[in-house]
Amino acid sequence: MNPFTYARAQDAADAVRLGAEKATKYLGGGTNLVDLLRETIEQPEKLIDVTGLSSDIQVRADGSILIGAATRNTVLASHAAVRTSFPALSRALVAGASAQIRNMATVGGNILQRTRCTYFYDNAGSRCNKRNPGQGCDAFEGFNRNHAILGASSSCVATHPSDMCVALAALDAKVHLRGASGERTLLLNDLHRLPEDHPELETQLNSGELITAVELPPLPMAARSTYRKVRDRASYAFALVSVAAAIELEGETVKDVRLALGGVAHKPWRAWKAEAALKGQRATVEAFRAAAEAELAMAVPLHDNAFKVELAKRTITTVFAELMEIES
Ligand code: SF4
Repeated sequence: MNPFTYARAQDAADAVRLGAEKATKYLGGGTNLVDLLRETIEQPEKLIDVTGLSSDIQVRADGSILIGAATRNTVLASHAAVRTSFPALSRALVAGASAQIRNMATVGGNILQRTRCTYFYDNAGSRCNKRNPGQGCDAFEGFNRNHAILGASSSCVATHPSDMCVALAALDAKVHLRGASGERTLLLNDLHRLPEDHPELETQLNSGELITAVELPPLPMAARSTYRKVRDRASYAFALVSVAAAIELEGETVKDVRLALGGVAHKPWRAWKAEAALKGQRATVEAFRAAAEAELAMAVPLHDNAFKVELAKRTITTVFAELMEIES
């Protein structure tokens, strides 16, 4: 590992001041950053410990919740207001990693964790456009069972690994950012990028900008929300497909709906087409399946992961049926 300087930031302002240089990384700015340092995939000149950022969870009078970026995943998952008003988020957090990791991982770090594509980590022998732009991508002809079926490009077919972010995407969460030029907010749906021709660029963060908080806006329908993760084993595995969903009815008709998918794209995948297809329809298993078909119509599977298309359709249908307490 290359030598780097280390500093501990007391708060967000201190972190921005310390980070106002190139080749800086925020420790706590990516759950697997230390793994990448060990593999020499990341070689920053300066590392800033941002675990001193706020870890407060503020429940506001309007029902919104402001979550400090340094809040631990376990603390957030077990918070009473989150469990009651945003159960999809609580379930997504508990579905992630292991208890030991959830006890240490922060909200900001979870958002900025990087793909677990095997070829990305194989610094010694594999080609990867994300690690070395322009080098090529060995996942296309290699083992790509876990890779993307939506929104990928000829440069990269990696998936985003977070469970929490899938729930945040469905719940219209906002990310609070702070950098040398001030503060701003972004919808989480707009924070992560699709790979296009530059898979090395994963977010809309500017240089030196860091996440200070995540905001859950008031969303009464989120009380009827859930998260389902389908994976190869019951614990400590990444999603093959995951679904975060919320639904609001007017009589038997779908008045409003939220749906996001994980394990299928370079970013948490908000299923806008499925949502549009469901609104105004009778809440039936057939309507849920039709909405899933509408979303997955644009899927482009690779040679090892065509099963994800049907898996996603079935999981979407089942999750909505369970929210409605009807047989699927
Ligand atoms: Fe790299 Fe993306 Fe290809 Fe994986 S899929 S090897 S991360 S370019």
